Amino acid sequence: MYKIAVIPGDGIGKEVMDAAIHVLDNTGLNFKYEYGEAGDECLDNCGIALPEETIKLAKKSDSVLFGAAGESAADVIVKLRQVLDLYANLRPVKSYPQTKSLFNDIDFMIVRENTEGMYVGLESESDEGAIAERIITAKASKRICDYAFKYAQKTGRTKVTGVHKANVLKITDGLFKEKFYEISEKYGDIEAEDYYVDATAMYLLTRPQSFEVIVTTNLFGDILSDEGAGIVGGLGLIPSANIGDNGALFEPVHGSAPDIAGKQIANPIAMILSAKMMLEHLNELEEAKKIDEAILTVLKNKESLTPDLGGNSTTNDLAKAIAKLL
Ligand code: ATP
Repeated sequence: MYKIAVIPGDGIGKEVMDAAIHVLDNTGLNFKYEYGEAGDECLDNCGIALPEETIKLAKKSDSVLFGAAGESAADVIVKLRQVLDLYANLRPVKSYPQTKSLFNDIDFMIVRENTEGMYVGLESESDEGAIAERIITAKASKRICDYAFKYAQKTGRTKVTGVHKANVLKITDGLFKEKFYEISEKYGDIEAEDYYVDATAMYLLTRPQSFEVIVTTNLFGDILSDEGAGIVGGLGLIPSANIGDNGALFEPVHGSAPDIAGKQIANPIAMILSAKMMLEHLNELEEAKKIDEAILTVLKNKESLTPDLGGNSTTNDLAKAIAKLL
């Protein structure tokens, strides 16, 4: 029995969360869900966007499923990442039918360091203008590279690509590259290669099929994952995971979409794929694979699709069509 903290949040977060829970309930697994509040509605009702009880709930659960938060997203999700020390951000880049993907055979994972690099918030004004500091530590570099290789091993991938700009950022990215190869030695069965980030940005467009797992620092990972989203047809179907040693949180990349909230027309697939990533994290690989195959079948057959995918079905209908195939 897995204890799952469920935080639906705002807008379509609630609808896509119900859909994902319906799918999880149709796997052969046992879950105990405990619901927590967070987001704009919570801020209006209780005066705080992320109450202490929700943090406690997240800390004592095996995993957290998060829907979406509106204006208060930064206060909620950034804080949850910090308090749970979720150092790895995972963004899959995979082509699905019915989407505007540049190629139909893309399937790789971007593993982004989530705690340091350019996003440490160390900016200051100087006499001439402004300065931003970029922090790369040996500890965080080793931790994220180790995660990427372990992930590759667990999911049957054969290669990890380290991405950096060590020719210019000689000291900081030099350290990242050094730790990447140091860690790779522990994983003799997995090929290790490295590229500069600018070259990688081009290869993602010209030969994305050649990647299996990419591991990189915070800012580069942020940019490459949105490029990845563009390559496979936009943010619509994209899930994400935030993972630490003592917790993990899974959420769709899209936000609360207030324009379509409450209409039962939101596409639940990004949330369902986030739940699928949670199963992978919990080592329930068989069930995770079944969910992925069910989504592929539903998309291929153009069955019960929501309006953004060209259909006229509801959020719940699409979830039911996926659940039925499990
Ligand atoms: P937020 O401020 O919470 O980020 P937003 O509307 O600015 O909300 P998104 O929620 O990412 O940003 O949505 C951008 C647009 O994409 C929305 O206007 C919506 O029409 C569309 N969209 C987002 N998610 C979905 C979804 N799951 N299904 C269908 N359309 C979606």
